[in-house]
Amino acid sequence: MPRIFSGIQPSGELHIGNYLGAVKNWVALQRQYESFFCIVDYHAITVPYDPADLRQRTRDMAISLLAAGIDPSACTLFVQSMVPEHTELAWIFNSVTPLGELERQTQFKEKALRQESVAVGLLTYPVLQAADILLYKADMVPVGEDQVQHLELSREVARRWNTKFATEEAPFFPEPKPLLTPTRRVMGLDGQAKMSKSLGNTVGLLEDPKDIWEKLRPAVTDPKRVRRTDPGTPEVCNIYHLHKAFSPPATVEHVAVQCSTAGWGCIDCKKVLFESMEVELQPIRQRAQEIMDDSKTVGEMLSAGAARARAIAAETLGEVKQLMGLT
Ligand code: SF4
Repeated sequence: MPRIFSGIQPSGELHIGNYLGAVKNWVALQRQYESFFCIVDYHAITVPYDPADLRQRTRDMAISLLAAGIDPSACTLFVQSMVPEHTELAWIFNSVTPLGELERQTQFKEKALRQESVAVGLLTYPVLQAADILLYKADMVPVGEDQVQHLELSREVARRWNTKFATEEAPFFPEPKPLLTPTRRVMGLDGQAKMSKSLGNTVGLLEDPKDIWEKLRPAVTDPKRVRRTDPGTPEVCNIYHLHKAFSPPATVEHVAVQCSTAGWGCIDCKKVLFESMEVELQPIRQRAQEIMDDSKTVGEMLSAGAARARAIAAETLGEVKQLMGLT
């Protein structure tokens, strides 16, 4: 069975943007591939943060993932810092990665601009990312079209290391391929930018239904639909795109007709969306509550996941060290 690896930042509770954009897809893939899903807390410390907050966000992310359907009996779910081989392999990869290649990364340039003092970890972030993937010799990484180039550096690291320490006929690390997945770019309720916690335009995956409605009610729609009698253009409306994610196809079709003929107002439309969202989100909230009520579950599941991941990670690292003349 081919192996896949994917990581997610410990940003606390999932919002529907990262649920629809990545995690729902992981749930679908976890039984088709040997899957490793990692909460990448080492990646989260390259910018200023509060330790107690990071611990809580890591736990909340684990709860969200489990509630969303990540099943530890079908895949390996773990926290990066519980498997120290990630940083050890990253150091090794630092020794084969040219500085210029890291400095050219767009993400580094953007993030560095926003900070007074830039940590080296921010620059070498993609090297740790390569170590995350290659430690498990993952064949594929689930990505959307827009992220394919991010994977190129990991492929490049694998090539460079193989050239130095393995042979062309028997490369040690596979070059991980993108597993193109139908990821959704979910816009925030402001309709201006991608849904993101930092922009305050999110709907939490575990949010109380009352609060979700309070956010949906004033959410931005087709700006040209000023009066109730103005026909709208569903394709330009974020609410319509959320219908596509949550409502059954027949409802989506009905929304398009009702909108473009001014058959109903935006509040009617949002009420239907709210009901569709509840069908999907209510069981997730319930699972999250059950997990939270059982104080041991999360810790035990993450420890078991880390032990499984570590067995493979230690084997890879042992072979790497042997090939490199390290002890
Ligand atoms: S009716 Fe629905 S799809 Fe049309 S503009 Fe209003 S909220 Fe958007």
